[in-house]
Amino acid sequence: MKVRIKKHLKKFLSYTPDSVDYKIRLNANELPFDETANLLSKINDGNLSVQLKKNSINRYPDPSYSNLLSKIAKKHKISTARIVLSNGSDELILNLVMSLTGKTSRVLTFDPTFSMYEILSQVINVKCNKILLDKNFDIPLNTTLKKIKNYDPDIIFIASPNNPTANSFSKDKILKIIEESNGLVVVDEAYADYSQVSFVNYLSKYKNLAIMKTMSKVGFASLRVGYLLAHKDIINVINKVRLPYNLSTLSSIIAQDFFDNQKKYKNDIDKIIKERERIFLKLRSYEKLEVYHSDSNFIFIKFNRSKALYKYLLDRNINIKIFSNSSLKNYFRITIGTPRENNLILSCIKNFIYHK
Ligand code: PMP
Repeated sequence: MKVRIKKHLKKFLSYTPDSVDYKIRLNANELPFDETANLLSKINDGNLSVQLKKNSINRYPDPSYSNLLSKIAKKHKISTARIVLSNGSDELILNLVMSLTGKTSRVLTFDPTFSMYEILSQVINVKCNKILLDKNFDIPLNTTLKKIKNYDPDIIFIASPNNPTANSFSKDKILKIIEESNGLVVVDEAYADYSQVSFVNYLSKYKNLAIMKTMSKVGFASLRVGYLLAHKDIINVINKVRLPYNLSTLSSIIAQDFFDNQKKYKNDIDKIIKERERIFLKLRSYEKLEVYHSDSNFIFIKFNRSKALYKYLLDRNINIKIFSNSSLKNYFRITIGTPRENNLILSCIKNFIYHK
């Protein structure tokens, strides 16, 4: 049988996640602290066990996910009608481009940024244009506003802090973009816990603003939990296309620990921020690296031997991120790990630069 693939997918290149077979994983911007045993004991006989008893593994999940939803609502001081949950925020991106590209079928984002905005636009055959960031990796406002005027994108994706460049964009520029855009502006706050800025307070002011959050960067990557905060008209549309039961019961229960123990997780995040500043200063002292300021849990670095460094580190069981995109061939990105992991990678990088 000849595979009846859709024409636009014939040459399509999907996202290829990295192998997990490395001892030190500083490639995917996860939180390095492992709470697995503690979390499993809480669903087994701790304060989360009641929910699993009520809704056991042989049953479908509560379709409203009301326990998790109300905790998210409380944290962000927002009504539950303005939240939708997703199986990781990647799923939200797909649902957004699938359902909210109904006027011009155009998506706008920046370059470099998180690749899934473009990849998932391609999956549903919607055009995704990218505007080159300026030399400080900030948004070039005039070019962007012109593009918005001429192109009228249905959705603009803005990751702030941005991945892979690690910086937050100028808040005033983002607000101007929201004001000038007739389509939906999605601010992806995957890394906002590591920065000073969030746009959640602007949701009541702008109907065309939506905020995407993920739990993947704050200790829960394996659960695949993300959520969108937006006007209820937007949430209603996503609910139309979202698969029923898109989150597993286990994920929706375990994720609640983050909202029940905000102080503890804030403490973990603060530890990473402290480490980030320490590592930033160390890396800056190494010749030949151009190290950029970070508002995230990772650092973006320019180095003309990044591919060789990557291989050198893999040989030592350390995985970092390099990029297939040719414009980023002289860059690499490292996630902030535990102090021990950070010390190890610092010494390996130093050794590579000065002795290899
Ligand atoms: N947005 C950004 C900016 C990201 O870097 C990532 C993950 N790398 C995601 C969204 C997706 O996160 P997840 O699907 O794990 O929620």
